[in-house]
Amino acid sequence: MAGKRHLGPDWRHNQQLAWLQARASAPPFKKDYVMNRFSRALVLLALPSLAWAQPFPLIDTHAHFESLPYKDFAASEKSALAAMAQWNIGMSLLMPPPRATLDPKTNYDIEELLPAIKANPGRLAALGGAGSLTIMLHNTSPEAVNDAVRQSFRQRAMEIIALGAVGFGEIPVQHLSLPNMGPRHAYENVPADHPLLMLLADIAAENDVPIDIHFDMVPNDMPLPPPLKSPPNPPKLQGNLPAFERLLAHNPKTRIVWAHVGFEPIRTRGPDIVRQLLTAHPNLYMSFRLGRTGPHPSMAMAADGKLKPEWMALLQAFPDRFMLGSDSFYAGAGVSRGATSEGMDNLRGLVDQLPPELGRQLARDNAIRVYRLKVTTGQ
Ligand SMILES: [Zn+2]
Repeated sequence: MAGKRHLGPDWRHNQQLAWLQARASAPPFKKDYVMNRFSRALVLLALPSLAWAQPFPLIDTHAHFESLPYKDFAASEKSALAAMAQWNIGMSLLMPPPRATLDPKTNYDIEELLPAIKANPGRLAALGGAGSLTIMLHNTSPEAVNDAVRQSFRQRAMEIIALGAVGFGEIPVQHLSLPNMGPRHAYENVPADHPLLMLLADIAAENDVPIDIHFDMVPNDMPLPPPLKSPPNPPKLQGNLPAFERLLAHNPKTRIVWAHVGFEPIRTRGPDIVRQLLTAHPNLYMSFRLGRTGPHPSMAMAADGKLKPEWMALLQAFPDRFMLGSDSFYAGAGVSRGATSEGMDNLRGLVDQLPPELGRQLARDNAIRVYRLKVTTGQ
């Protein structure tokens, strides 16, 4: 084609003429074709953000099957899956509630959760120990812990791991009795540096699983705050934070998930002390329960459902340390206590207020990493 230049202006004119004629006679879609390609490119470009805009499923790291006044776990399973569908929860971690005394009728541990877990792989997983280890813990004084006690405690803990537990929980340290959780809601208390808790921390680290802990923190001795009742709670609460920090520091490999941040009746876990403890203890994690909102600093959300700036700052400062934990008690007729519809809405509301990446970490990625979860894609 090098010779074209010598073909003179007419040739170029004819070529152009031919092109124009061809253009004129070409089917009209060409322009549309271009527009079409352009809009398709636009859609392709927008797809990721569209996908990102899709509300992704949450992971609820703290829920229970209700056993009061009786157990019907097949019905609890149904209502759990129904609630998960309603609130777009992809996976729930179930655990026995914190027990210090054995009541054969209502007590349970991981064994009784296994049928539901096996029937819903990638959607339900279990923690164990709150119906067995905690009874040993709360009925053995620190001084009475000897090799025989350690051995039977370790044996039970290893049974729980062998049954497929993704962690130990819900382990009560100080667990205040709350009027709105029913007349049988117990007061339970052991020192956080109890030798059996230190042992559990080591067993959890050895098996690379976390411990979900219920800990009503008392920074300094204080009177029992209203509306809590005494009895069953003591009229005066003793400072218990130094012992908790000894437990956290005992084994840096132990991942400890401190449940119920963001709404706690004792109201001692405000943003300042949360920042202090997360800074001091890299193995400490927290899960949000947001059953109530309000002005008190320990409540992460204001009454209008807005996350308070000091809590937003905490989440931004520690993006890999927070998870969601509704504390739902699933019974045959739905959630019987622990979480409210408002509380479930607040969990999604919290996620939606965050920058997408941070929201995703809070709602699922941190849980997957901390609990080593195998989630089915899209869940
Ligand atoms: Zn709980």
